[in-house]
Amino acid sequence: MKKILIIHTGGTIAMMEDKETGAVGQNQKNPLLLHTDALAEIADVMVEDLFQLPSPHITEKEMLILKQKIETSIIENKIEGVVITHGTDTLEETAYFLDITVQSDIPIVVTGAMRSSNELGADGPYNLISAVRVAASDSASGTGVLVVLNDEIHTGKNATKTHTSNIATFQSPQYGPLGIVSKREITFHHMPTVRETYDIGKVTKNVILLKAYAGMDGSIISAIRSLHPDGLVIEALGQGNLPPSMVPELKVLIDEGVPVVLVSRCFNGYVQDVYNYEGGGRQLKDLGVIFSNGLNGQKARLKLLITLEVTQKHDELQEMFFI
Ligand code: ASP
Repeated sequence: MKKILIIHTGGTIAMMEDKETGAVGQNQKNPLLLHTDALAEIADVMVEDLFQLPSPHITEKEMLILKQKIETSIIENKIEGVVITHGTDTLEETAYFLDITVQSDIPIVVTGAMRSSNELGADGPYNLISAVRVAASDSASGTGVLVVLNDEIHTGKNATKTHTSNIATFQSPQYGPLGIVSKREITFHHMPTVRETYDIGKVTKNVILLKAYAGMDGSIISAIRSLHPDGLVIEALGQGNLPPSMVPELKVLIDEGVPVVLVSRCFNGYVQDVYNYEGGGRQLKDLGVIFSNGLNGQKARLKLLITLEVTQKHDELQEMFFI
């Protein structure tokens, strides 16, 4: 049997519904601990109840603690796989953070639930069992961090929460899942082609994420400048364009040395320097805006936060964002 470390961090998967008020909240004792015995039939599990946090309370600090805990456990406890239970709101961010920072190829699977532990049709226990099965499977090695919910296996890089309440919320737009979980098998039908990692020991930067909209002007950029950020990620329009009235302020920010990364607010496709009108991708590229590679805004923000610990050089950052 494989030795799997299960780390609980909180979220709906570890919450209970108050039958009188219908409010979902934290429980004194983590209800997931009730399932530890059932999991012993699949793997040799070690369980750590690390945090009891709803995922909107998770920050980069907790993500870094998770990275370090996993790496230490690989050395000290010889674990062969990891499962993390997590609230779904920011699950994709923790999964991606670990994907690009953990220095190991052992399977790391993040899971959660859309219904709390005592609701009818609770999906948490099932997702937890599926996640342990995937983490114990040989084919899950070297795939990067995985997200497993609702019988599907996604990459931490591409999975995103697409629905506020449906249990099929995690999808990988443009790419689809890597594999499926069925009663008897764990089946992978795709494999990622590249995995990049950055071995950071701290997260010290302030990176802001901003979404563009029709009629947006530069005032928000000057407000952001006054916060002295270390970096800015903009979810631009379409293929990577911005309203022209943003350009002068953006130029000032870039000339001051603040890296600006562009992603699209479209959830499919890449940003490219195609349009040459005022505010178009070509002009933005000439200004020194860094073009990203299909990551969504929240993941590009984490990537900039992490890569800024490694380099501040524009060309090196641009190269990292091509991967
Ligand atoms: N709001 C919850 C959280 O992220 C949602 C969930 O876990 O599904 O903690």
